[in-house]
Amino acid sequence: MSNQTYADIIIDISHENLDKTYQYTIPEDLIPQAVIGALVVVPFGKGNRKINGYIVGMSGEPKIDEKLIKPIDEVVKNAPVIESHLIFLSFWIKETFGGTMNDALKTVIPVRKAVKIIEQKSISLAIDTVQANQLYYEYQRKNNAARVRLMEALLKNPILDYEDAIHKLSIPRSTLQGLEKQGVTKTIAEQVYRNPVRNQDIKYVPVQLNEEQQIIVDGICKDYEEGIRSTYLIHGITGSGKTEVYMEILAAVIAQGKQVILLIPEIALTYQTVMRFYKRFGDRISIMNSKMSQGERYDQSLRAKNGEIDIIIGPRSALFTPFQNLGMIIIDEEHENSYKSETSPRYQATLVAIKRAELTGASVILGSATPSLESYHKAQQGEYKLYTLTKRAKEAHPPKVWIVDLREELKKKNKSIFSEKLKELIIDRLTKKEQIMLFLNRRGYAGFVSCRSCGHVMKCPHCEISLTTHNSGKMLCHYCGYEEPQPTLCPTCKSRYIAAFGTGTQKVEELVAREFPGARVLRMDTDTTKNKGGHETILSSFANHKADILVGTQMIVKGHDFPKVTLVGIIAADLSLYAGDFRASERTFQLLCQAAGRAGRDILSGEVVIQTYHPEHYSIQTAAMGNYMDFFEQEMKYRSLMQYPPAANILLALITSKEEAAADKAALHLGDVVKEILNQRELAAQLIGPAPANLSKANDIYRRVIYIKYSDYGTLIDIKNYLEGYFSFSEHFAGCNLQFDFNPMSTY
Ligand code: ADP
Ligand code: ZN
Ligand code: ZN
Repeated sequence: MSNQTYADIIIDISHENLDKTYQYTIPEDLIPQAVIGALVVVPFGKGNRKINGYIVGMSGEPKIDEKLIKPIDEVVKNAPVIESHLIFLSFWIKETFGGTMNDALKTVIPVRKAVKIIEQKSISLAIDTVQANQLYYEYQRKNNAARVRLMEALLKNPILDYEDAIHKLSIPRSTLQGLEKQGVTKTIAEQVYRNPVRNQDIKYVPVQLNEEQQIIVDGICKDYEEGIRSTYLIHGITGSGKTEVYMEILAAVIAQGKQVILLIPEIALTYQTVMRFYKRFGDRISIMNSKMSQGERYDQSLRAKNGEIDIIIGPRSALFTPFQNLGMIIIDEEHENSYKSETSPRYQATLVAIKRAELTGASVILGSATPSLESYHKAQQGEYKLYTLTKRAKEAHPPKVWIVDLREELKKKNKSIFSEKLKELIIDRLTKKEQIMLFLNRRGYAGFVSCRSCGHVMKCPHCEISLTTHNSGKMLCHYCGYEEPQPTLCPTCKSRYIAAFGTGTQKVEELVAREFPGARVLRMDTDTTKNKGGHETILSSFANHKADILVGTQMIVKGHDFPKVTLVGIIAADLSLYAGDFRASERTFQLLCQAAGRAGRDILSGEVVIQTYHPEHYSIQTAAMGNYMDFFEQEMKYRSLMQYPPAANILLALITSKEEAAADKAALHLGDVVKEILNQRELAAQLIGPAPANLSKANDIYRRVIYIKYSDYGTLIDIKNYLEGYFSFSEHFAGCNLQFDFNPMSTY
């Protein structure tokens, strides 16, 4: 009994107390299938309840009394086996971003359940063509029409789809069976995958890369050939030809028999984008998106695993495609929020990509017109290799940008949401039959309080972020809990026009209709795109000029090319500027750059109107000039001063509970525990909170937050691990849950 092998198994229940491995023995007959990464059924607990689990390790030593170790019941057939490097990756994800091991495993396994594999049957000749021709004439003589049709078809096309033969050629099933028995035809059964993009007959027209593009392609390909694996950041303005660069590099990587993962934010994964890749790479490519069924996604991962495709394009989750020979991961629009998971484990896809690349010997390319502060900072530190594209690839002129000071409009007694400049240009475009996009930046809009007369914004004296209104007439800081009553007069100019900011897209649509009667207006926001295909319907009717004006949220600024759009109006750029979190300026800069990039994409040149109460704000100034470097430098000063990422790291602890008192008590206690750790270890870390979360109650669950700011990420991981352990046995947290988030993307 000495060479018994024990399987370490993670039980498929996400609960902190079960978040460890359990040992099981492997019955002799299961040894071949019971590999690391396999999905198994095991008896669990006192009642030996049958439960799923994953084998994550093997060992020869029992950790408990051998007699107590139970055997595995079965290994689930047809279930995808997780590669061992992906198992390692999920350990790393759990460690680096928090959450349970089970959550982490589920993240890396594309589809957990085995899905029925569709079999496609086809028919072909079992005889040679000379014999087939003889039979063909024989059937004609006998007036056997069905057989004639079949032979004719088979002589033209050696393989026929079985169902097509029955339905399109109207051959009775019995005839097919009869011919097979006689040895005339044979039936081939084949597994088919549900390929979401069918073969299409379209030609790829190569472009001649310009000098800037060629330098990047040459540089990265040379590294690659020499075996250098690295992370690259391509900073290239919108339309500078990044996608062409990716395709060129991709072609070189797959020519070496390697595979590539290309991440694109779901919102930009449009038909247009997909077809560009399809034209060049055809069937070797596959697409993943969240609208696909589990079956489709399972097929994609199976195809990837079997080496039938070289390239997968998809959103964040495509990062875990089980390629056997991964050569490169490309992350387009790397600054996008959607690369950070909003559910546990709250992983940052870029960091996971770099880790996966390290484990498999691949390289990583990040690309953006407005790189995240984190990535650009790393590039400056030499951690990533930086490349830049400064010119638009097609000779389009950059748009002319107007910044309109809304305080001046108020002085001119213009209380409408359209400044005089914007009104004038809208009328101009309507006359010229050109198109207009009106953009209302509502992301992160959290009811900040500002003065319409002088633009003053109420901020937390401790955190330098805006205070948020509450029904109670108070304003609150969601980082530290600081509060004060909402003023009735502006503390700076004593104006009465101080209030919470708020205009919705629907309101804008109404006002457009009132101000410009006769203009055809479309609205695109979360309301109008709820239905499946809502996006495409709105975008295609706008593309076909069924409307003159498209009003929308950030949805309308992502990656769509409308050649007839020559005016982009940003109704209130400030809405995202004071969103109550430290990334507000960065997000504003990104959105303004993107919105500006929508105007004048083709021959017609464009204009952009940015309406704001803060024309002097650096986010707005630098975005208007399209000057990323200026923005980066100013924003880094703020981050350094306030010790926000990337100058330092933040660990957020979120306590949730159905009982308000329990949540408060737990949050206070957690704060004390953190203080004690910091004191004990003599860490100069900053503890902020506890405070009610921005969303202080959701679905009747109370939410409390604590932030810990410290330079070193690893130390914050230690603190998280300690708190996780402490939480699992301390009775102070009864009825509460605890979650973590590193360097959160928005307020909680
Ligand atoms: P990005 O991904 O940086 O926004 P794209 O790769 O989509 O830029 O390029 C923008 C447009 O310019 C596309 O229509 C593309 O086909 C075209 N383009 C890119 N590079 C070249 C080039 N070297 N010559 C001609 N057209 C190009
Ligand atoms: Zn004021
Ligand atoms: Zn504060």
